[in-house]
Amino acid sequence: MADLDSFDVVVIGGGPAGYPAALRAAQNGLKVACIDEWKNRDGSGTFGGTCLNAGCIPSKALLESTELLHRAQHEFAAHGLNTQVTVDLAAMQRRRASIVKTMTGGILALFKAAGVVPLRGHGRLLQPGRVEYTADDGSVRTLVSKDVVLASGSVPTALRSAPFDGVAIIDSWSALELDAIPKRLGVIGAGVIGLELGSVWRRLGSEVVVLEALPDFLAIADSQLAKEALRQFRKLGLDIRLGARVSAAEVKDGAVAVTYSDASAADQTLTVDKLIVAIGRRPFTEGLLAPGSGVELDPRGFIIVDEQCRTGAARVWAVGDCVRGPMLAHKGKEEGVMVADLIAGRYGEVNYAAVPSVIYTAPEIAWVGATEQQVKASGRAYKVGVFPFAASGRARAMEATAGFVKLIAAADDDAILGVHIIGPLAGELVAEAVLAMEYSASAEDLQRTIHAHPTLSEGLHEAALAADKRAIDSINR
Ligand code: FAD
Ligand code: AMP
Repeated sequence: MADLDSFDVVVIGGGPAGYPAALRAAQNGLKVACIDEWKNRDGSGTFGGTCLNAGCIPSKALLESTELLHRAQHEFAAHGLNTQVTVDLAAMQRRRASIVKTMTGGILALFKAAGVVPLRGHGRLLQPGRVEYTADDGSVRTLVSKDVVLASGSVPTALRSAPFDGVAIIDSWSALELDAIPKRLGVIGAGVIGLELGSVWRRLGSEVVVLEALPDFLAIADSQLAKEALRQFRKLGLDIRLGARVSAAEVKDGAVAVTYSDASAADQTLTVDKLIVAIGRRPFTEGLLAPGSGVELDPRGFIIVDEQCRTGAARVWAVGDCVRGPMLAHKGKEEGVMVADLIAGRYGEVNYAAVPSVIYTAPEIAWVGATEQQVKASGRAYKVGVFPFAASGRARAMEATAGFVKLIAAADDDAILGVHIIGPLAGELVAEAVLAMEYSASAEDLQRTIHAHPTLSEGLHEAALAADKRAIDSINR
């Protein structure tokens, strides 16, 4: 076997779960290859997976651009700034594409520096220790590897009643690359992706209708937070229709006629120019496993793993969106790093109880730990502290007073059980709560931690104080 074909670790998939696994394994002194088959619309291949090419990064680029537009249109006047802003969508999209290009190129640079061998093409686990590698040029080799990490990610879930046609009925990737602003936009699914994409195009001027099958808005979030979020999104102009079940979508003369039913009436029609189907993502494992590989899937298609991401096959691991747990880039990253450390005989773990969730809308939404409804259901006695950003000097200076910080702590031992934030830079603010929970801090620990004034972070400090009715800058309820 040529040396080129023999490795300590082969990682299949170069997204945010796979590439950190490869890098950490190389840092641990192992000989590593990372195989990735991602193809961009122009046929080029890049590492970075969904996150860098079609998810986290391009969506945040457009959210940032369009939030600036929104602020210029709706907030600048309050600052005494009078301006007329026009949109150059092509330039906005070039910026998005250039950010993606820089970030995906960065992974290759990191691989080079760490000595990871990048392999473009398809990887298939033949059996533990053997991976078939089909290069982009069609050539096929068998790689021998002591350990194999599967990081094949996920793809958008299709809706039978509204199948993707790539033109009028599109997935989230296409929705990030539109070259014209749709006049009427439909979004199926008011989840994280649907809300972020709906916000982008709403701010650019589209009339956006979001159809959500569940009767509750953002059911995964704390219900007090979800209620505030719904109010804010409706204020932005998102027409969010709950309990709306889509039964058909017909493309005719460039428009899409969507049929749906909700509590008010059956078979209602909504006509839009583009329809984004954002009903979730499913694990992607097509062509990944040869028969007899020893790796098993659960009924929903996720690769079955234990707490430490071991599959049922010896020295085969799986991380990221293709395994159980939240489909989040940072969750996959920590799993990749954990596995690479475990392979090298080092300590590794992922604290699944402290994985933050962020929705990058305006106001931004972020949380970690349990929601109030979950704590209530657990039967544990608890206390809640809420600090409204309306009482924050910094938020006032920023014209961003919508929202609040909510902290839930145990009534008995004061442990922080959950922190839920809706408001400016919530995704950054939640990091302090994650750290607090990681260090098993109590609400009192946060109360006694000095926070600079005036900052948004004081909101967490005050919410911790409010849990004991000792808030200084807001009314204790
Ligand atoms: P992926 O990123 O899907 O990467 C898997 C890679 O493996 C792909 O490149 C794929 O081509 C390759 N591959 C698969 N099978 C094979 C094979 N057999 N051989 C070779 N290569 C293979 N998450 C966040 O945390 N924050 C966000 O803000 C966020 N925003 C998002 C916005 C959008 C619009 C979308 C769609 C997703 C977003 N996500 C976000 C989710 C995030 O993108 C995923 O959780 C993350 O990409 C999962 O990482 P992964 O490495 O497991 O899989
Ligand atoms: P997420 O998993 O965060 O991307 O969210 C997907 C959202 O789509 C969830 O809120 C689901 O309830 C919603 N959803 C799933 N299927 C349908 C459907 N057929 N029609 C409308 N909404 C749906």
